[in-house]
Amino acid sequence: MDALRIGHGYDAHRFADPKNDPRPLIMGGVHIPHHCGLAAHSDGDAVIHALCDALLGAIGETDIGQHFPDTDQRFRNADSGDLLKQTYALLQDRDWALVNADITVLAQAPKLAPHRNAMCHRLAELLAVSRDRINIKASTTEKMGFTGREEGIAVHAVVLLNR
Ligand code: MG
Repeated sequence: MDALRIGHGYDAHRFADPKNDPRPLIMGGVHIPHHCGLAAHSDGDAVIHALCDALLGAIGETDIGQHFPDTDQRFRNADSGDLLKQTYALLQDRDWALVNADITVLAQAPKLAPHRNAMCHRLAELLAVSRDRINIKASTTEKMGFTGREEGIAVHAVVLLNR
């Protein structure tokens, strides 16, 4: 039986127009002060969405869209923290546990470094794992591309699982 699995996840969301769709910016389960949030059916937490996709990918369970469809009214403005808990419960049912997660956020703005520790703590809390198993890096893309133009935020996540 396999002892290790690796998974990768990617997500990107566009910033919502603060006039037509004022919403908080939620990243890694943490409210980050910014003049606009991310447009989404759920709370738009691209960090958690990428992490869920990495976890699901590692166990061959497709992706977050299959498990929590954005056409389903139950997930309207969903707290992504709940989706992460449900996703990890599915893994644990199959005897998988997180070894570590490494997450890279691409965002020109806002600056995420001051919130990195809070995000790691919150993700560790949601997964009931120790803080040192979660790492978040943030990079601007030197004003290149859609993240560089501050049109949105993109996130990559890699996880390793064992059992
Ligand atoms: Mg998403």
